[in-house]
Amino acid sequence: LIGADGSTRPTIFAEMSALAAHTGAINLGQGFPDEDGPSEVLDAARAAIAHGVNQYPPGRGIPDLLAAVAEHQERFYGLHLDPARDVLVTAGATEALAATLLALIDGPDDEVVVFEPYYDSYAAVIALAGARLVTVPLRWPDFQPDLDELRDAVTDRTRVILVNDPHNPTGAVFSPDVRAEVVRLANAHDAIIVTDEVYEHLVFDEPHVPIATLPGAWDRTLTISSGGKTFSTTGWKIGWVCGPSDLVDVVLAVKQWLTYVNGAPFQPAIATGLRLPGEYFDGIAATLRAKRDLLGAGLSAAGFDVSVPAGSYFTVVDAAPLGATDAAAFCRMLPARAGVVAIPLTAFVTPARAGDYATLVRFAACKRVEVLEEAASRLADLR
Ligand code: PMP
Ligand code: GLN
Repeated sequence: LIGADGSTRPTIFAEMSALAAHTGAINLGQGFPDEDGPSEVLDAARAAIAHGVNQYPPGRGIPDLLAAVAEHQERFYGLHLDPARDVLVTAGATEALAATLLALIDGPDDEVVVFEPYYDSYAAVIALAGARLVTVPLRWPDFQPDLDELRDAVTDRTRVILVNDPHNPTGAVFSPDVRAEVVRLANAHDAIIVTDEVYEHLVFDEPHVPIATLPGAWDRTLTISSGGKTFSTTGWKIGWVCGPSDLVDVVLAVKQWLTYVNGAPFQPAIATGLRLPGEYFDGIAATLRAKRDLLGAGLSAAGFDVSVPAGSYFTVVDAAPLGATDAAAFCRMLPARAGVVAIPLTAFVTPARAGDYATLVRFAACKRVEVLEEAASRLADLR
């Protein structure tokens, strides 16, 4: 029905992963790890299946996972949640976003403010919900929003300010000023903050700061995350929404008509993951940081201008120094020319602003070291 551009095309990730499979190229396009996550988590899923956790779970989620999410928010961020009321399990962050936006949007006069470029499902779901997308640009190379442009975008028509921090596709982590301004504007215009924090444990410098922890934020903020990135289980699709119970309840009211419930045996397994010791979480961030540096050095040596992400799976480069004028065309020829797949940033922007991102390309760093090294050596032949 509706792609980000109103078309029926498959998503950019489906298109580019199919291209990788078809050409045998290294897939640095779609963001998924090529190694399994922690054995404790995998074993817990096997044990749950063996112990008969195979039928419909409760609508809000299995109590053990609700409790583990609440414990996690307390342990990492000092947030106090009532697990029975302030948490909802969803089919990944994707369903959490869809159910949340469908629940909060009343009609075509509602606006959703989104930072652009944006994860592709945002524009599609805002279109499905029948609201208006209003974007605030993030510009190369640091991808922090301009606070005046943010202020101009938020008005009394704004129903939701949708934040993604750490950010896909740019890898930006928003500055404290940006977070504080989002909260101030949401209060001034009575908007709800929806914050997608799926990369919360993949930050390279400072610890992650959820917007919900800021003064004045909790009552109007729904925080979304999922286990896919943190535990390298992107195919399990266990996500969650946390926030004040009145807001979580309206999301549950929509979720029950989308998937009803999801992922029974994976829920206790993700609960196990959320309770792993701190070394696990420090370890995944440190490992990915080293991969970011390895990938960044390879891309730089290949002749790209390289931005330095503060978090997430991704690194954005400018391909203009290699003669590119159209990132989409560049990414379509890259598998044949270099045996590597990447994603053009134009897949994450509105048509009106595509020109500003015309030569920018996203590479995923969440692959084994030898795969990143091989990709770097292939890209070295591009010039
Ligand atoms: N939000 C962002 C920013 C993402 O990058 C992704 C996945 N890649 C999702 C949401 C979707 O997460 P899930 O797989 O848990 O649905
Ligand atoms: N989130 C991943 C990415 O940005 C993949 C998501 C998807 O395939 N829909 O690459």
